[in-house]
Amino acid sequence: MKKLSIVVPCYNEEESVTLFFSTVKEVINKINSDRKVIVPEYIFIDDGSSDDTLKEIKKLNKQFPDVVHYQSFSRNFGKESALFSGLEKSTGDYVVVMDVDLQDPPELLSKMLSLIQNSDYDCVGTIQKERLGQSKLRAFLSSSFYKVVNKVSDVYIEPNARDYRIMTRKFVNEVLALPEFNRFSKGIFSWVGFKTTYITYESQPRVAGKTHWSLQQLFAYSIEGIIDFSDVPLKLATWVGSISFILSILGLIFVIVRALTVGGSAAGWPSLVVIILLVGGIQLFCLGILGQYISKIYLETKHRPIYIVREDA
Ligand code: UDP
Ligand code: MG
Repeated sequence: MKKLSIVVPCYNEEESVTLFFSTVKEVINKINSDRKVIVPEYIFIDDGSSDDTLKEIKKLNKQFPDVVHYQSFSRNFGKESALFSGLEKSTGDYVVVMDVDLQDPPELLSKMLSLIQNSDYDCVGTIQKERLGQSKLRAFLSSSFYKVVNKVSDVYIEPNARDYRIMTRKFVNEVLALPEFNRFSKGIFSWVGFKTTYITYESQPRVAGKTHWSLQQLFAYSIEGIIDFSDVPLKLATWVGSISFILSILGLIFVIVRALTVGGSAAGWPSLVVIILLVGGIQLFCLGILGQYISKIYLETKHRPIYIVREDA
């Protein structure tokens, strides 16, 4: 009998935990109704919630101590950290990552499970069709992000793929073998390779609570995705620098030749100021790009833990 680990990152989701568990349990029972196909293991990660999320998880753990496990962080470390610790704690032959807000439809589990068991895919992911309630601006930013990241990075990131995915043990072990502190899972899942296929579904509303992503956080997350998997911005800085250098040499030659032939002129202060500002701007822009990479290196070299556990069961 194969074991399925269900990894569930939770941050301030007190209303969703029990509902999530009962819904998924029903789906698993249905999968096992004809013959027992899979043994589930639930791994809830409480990502430093400030509400009663941990209390709800503990209730489930008390009720089903062999099936429900949890880990509670010392503070909020972010979904990426929660996901990583969940994968580390998982022991199943297959591991599925699910949001607790039921936006990742549990009904798909049966299809995902049979795909991964009966084909040679190592990972079955999900793609959400157009997001419910998403503003035009967010949709535009999101599609631009995928365009840019897939143009500049070493890995292909499937547009609109969710973190909802089922993986084989082999796949999970390789994901865990990447020790980086700056974790951009969408990129890591793609970087490790193997064979992945995707199922598409209609987007679902949250059962309770609200999303934790502000536009600003999404923007930072996008920059993270680009910086973590691409050195194109650095190359861009070099290119912009080189081009402005060549242009300035050409300009210098022009000024010298003009001074020697028709004589110099004092006119042109405004254009001079504009050029100084432009070059200064380009320099700062390139320095900023460098700074982004240096800050990532800085964080990596500190070798800080990806998460800190306060309680574990
Ligand atoms: N989450 C988390 N830590 C965080 C933010 C979110 O563990 O710092 C969890 C959250 O509880 C949920 C999942 O990650 O189960 C996805 O979060 P959310 O629903 O806010 O994202 P969205 O579905 O809007 O992309
Ligand atoms: Mg959600």
